[in-house]
Amino acid sequence: MTKRNIVVLGAGYGGIRVAQELNKRLLNQDKYQIVLVNKQDYHTLRTQLYEPAVGTRDYNEVIIPLNEIVEGMSLVKGTVSEIDLHKRIVVINSTKEISFHYLVIALGSMPEYFGIKGLKENSISLNNINDAQVINDRIDNLLVKKSEERNEAPLHFVVGGGGLTGVEFTGELASYLEEKWEKYNLSADQYKITIIEAANQLLPGMSEEIAAYAKQTLEDLGVKVIINDLISEVTPEKIYLKSSPEIKYSLLIWAGGIRGNSILAKSGIKTDGRGRILVNPYLQYIDDPYIYAVGDSALVKDPETGIPVLPTAQAAIQEGRQVAQNIYADITGQPLKEHQPGLILLCITVGRGRGLGESKKFRIKGVSAALLKKFIPIKYFFTIGGLKLLGRRGMK
Ligand SMILES: Cc1cc2nc3c(=O)[nH]c(=O)nc-3n(C[C@H](O)[C@H](O)[C@H](O)COP(=O)(O)OP(=O)(O)OC[C@H]3O[C@@H](n4cnc5c(N)ncnc54)[C@H](O)[C@@H]3O)c2cc1C
Repeated sequence: MTKRNIVVLGAGYGGIRVAQELNKRLLNQDKYQIVLVNKQDYHTLRTQLYEPAVGTRDYNEVIIPLNEIVEGMSLVKGTVSEIDLHKRIVVINSTKEISFHYLVIALGSMPEYFGIKGLKENSISLNNINDAQVINDRIDNLLVKKSEERNEAPLHFVVGGGGLTGVEFTGELASYLEEKWEKYNLSADQYKITIIEAANQLLPGMSEEIAAYAKQTLEDLGVKVIINDLISEVTPEKIYLKSSPEIKYSLLIWAGGIRGNSILAKSGIKTDGRGRILVNPYLQYIDDPYIYAVGDSALVKDPETGIPVLPTAQAAIQEGRQVAQNIYADITGQPLKEHQPGLILLCITVGRGRGLGESKKFRIKGVSAALLKKFIPIKYFFTIGGLKLLGRRGMK
């Protein structure tokens, strides 16, 4: 008998969770097979990308080969080029077709440029491992070139967006340069770092206390923090702000926003203004109960507040677990459950040895938060790969 395909698109935080949980539940049955499709043959720890981008961790430490963490399912390495809802197929690399009975969309996000003139062309975003490599090469080249040129103007690293990604990257870069400028034969006044946030505090959505701590910590590291200002245009040399004078820059990292994967709109799937799939409380696409979506690609709302759930790895994992349960319930004729977002702890480092974290229940700052952040990937390794993966990866 031909098995029916449960196709999971994307092997990020959400997709891996769906595939692993469903695989456990569907063991010893012969009606369904799971097909996991991903651009790369590895899973990326996106939450750690700021480290290889700055150069404080090796790339290999933030990726895990998929065959180390999934088994008992079909793995397809390729780029989803289209989802055909009518023919019920997914097209890979514009050539290969995979039919689906159930489809889970977990394709993550892409940068949102808000139509700002010149921003896309003149910035780099930190979306995947390739971006991290490009950013790291650019930082290194700029520092090497600067040490050879010795002209007056300092290098200027600018980060657009003071959310989790922007603050974490900025802190890491500032700590790295503080430690390494001598290695590049530079003096401390030959570089500067600026972070620009449009809201009236860093880390919008987090408490004022935590935001003030992030600002103070970055300033202690020599970073200039600009809040309440918008980037209105970017040229190859200058950033124009709405209310401040223009800024000359050497490298612009854009961490100011994300939107759902462009494949969705291209495939005629209904999305919101930020390109996220519209789903019901069971995380099913509103027009098709056999299609589910999780993570950054989905517009999931908190049922109590009606506010969209923040796009985080933890949210993607929680949604992935729910989708696996609901598909299994559907297959076995049980009622589906509405998704209730669980407790989310937002936790980041702000430079070496400093960090912050916040959930609905508690706040944490300083060294203890930095230690907690170090523990999160270790726990994650254990969850997705057990002691075997933890043993291979060590406690770095
Ligand atoms: C630098 C940085 C720091 C962050 N820090 C935190 C943090 O501290 N805590 C937190 O909770 N969240 C953090 N986040 C956010 C978090 O990483 C995302 O919310 C999370 O990765 C979303 O999970 P996902 O499964 O939706 O997508 P992803 O994890 O992005 O996975 C999507 C997968 O789909 C694949 N894919 C995309 N397009 C295609 C295609 N066309 N064909 C085939 N495959 C495709 C990708 O290669 C990827 O493997 C951070 C993000 C960044 C960038």
